Amino acid sequence: MPKTTETTLEINLSALTHNYSYLKSKLESNTNFLAVVKAFAYGSDSVAVAKHLEALGVDYFAVAYTSEGFVLREAGIKTPILVLHPQPTNFKTLIDHCLEPSIYSFKVLDEFISTASHCKQQDYPIHLKFNTGLNRLGFRASDCNNIVEKLKATAAVKAKSIFSHLAASEDLNEKEFTLHQISTFRAVAKNLESLIGYKPWLHMCNTSGVIHYPEAHFDMVRCGIGLYGFGNSANEDQNLNPVASLKSVISQIHKIKPNETVGYNRAFMAEGHQKTATIPIGHADGISRQYGNKQGFVFIKGLKAPIIGNVCMDMIMVDVTNIECSEGDEVIIFDGIHKASTLAESANTISYEILTAISQRVKRKFLK
Ligand SMILES: *Cc1c(COP(=O)(O)O)cnc(C)c1O
Repeated sequence: MPKTTETTLEINLSALTHNYSYLKSKLESNTNFLAVVKAFAYGSDSVAVAKHLEALGVDYFAVAYTSEGFVLREAGIKTPILVLHPQPTNFKTLIDHCLEPSIYSFKVLDEFISTASHCKQQDYPIHLKFNTGLNRLGFRASDCNNIVEKLKATAAVKAKSIFSHLAASEDLNEKEFTLHQISTFRAVAKNLESLIGYKPWLHMCNTSGVIHYPEAHFDMVRCGIGLYGFGNSANEDQNLNPVASLKSVISQIHKIKPNETVGYNRAFMAEGHQKTATIPIGHADGISRQYGNKQGFVFIKGLKAPIIGNVCMDMIMVDVTNIECSEGDEVIIFDGIHKASTLAESANTISYEILTAISQRVKRKFLK
């Protein structure tokens, strides 16, 4: 592998293939696979990831916002794209780019029907989202009659799917709650189907739902984090390969004496003779201040080097007193061995946050 010469996020597309195949292996052969590529494909690169998955035959994509779907269409992605959280102000753009909205309230439904009618659409695919316990976005079970009334009154849109989202699919202590969400969803879907007179697709599971609730795979599953190599448990992480590796280099090494301090606000003070390394990555790159003051760490020559003092905007300083290293040496922030999920835990957060925080300033490099 060529030497790392600057801060780089390596994106391993063969790990993506592996994770996709692994998750697919959990499904019945006729279950559709929707790949969630919101937030730059969990901090990697949505176009590269979507192109790779499209070539592998993925059935659907989802993004959070219309602008994210627009980027994929501009890049030539032809697969259907569900926009999970569209804003009515973007409905015209959404239609112009054949993006499919999640419709989660009457306000949004009315505005979408109005725009779709205005754009002379017929049977434009929409996805009806129901709240079954997350209390974030979605219609209530009791809304079915009114929804169907509105759908029957227009030819502009058609319900392509009915869906919901699990609140705690990764947490088996919440199994009872999750099973209740699933049965609520089944009841809503049955009611809506009978009122509307056809069968939209049903979908409910995210990555952990795919793993823990095979009875709820329905017509499609929506996987995000698993595709990127994390399964929300040490057990599942073993079956997946992290797609992103974050690497950097040592810019400078300092030898410091007892009572010298390091970084802003003099947050670290040396107790003895110590050696520090300065690394060109900071909170503007996605390493938040939470990782400072020995909460977080990096790896140099395979050894753990804690982050000392405060994280700066463009730099961190790490303790390399016991590591034989030189300026220019490679630094691993996370990779397939030193996992992003472990680093995230050090700052009381989750893989999702550390991955999506990696800013656009960090150079991306693709490994086939
Ligand atoms: C982000 C998201 C997902 C993907 O969840 P993962 O846990 O990353 O697999 C699925 N569905 C909805 C509605 C989402 O917002």
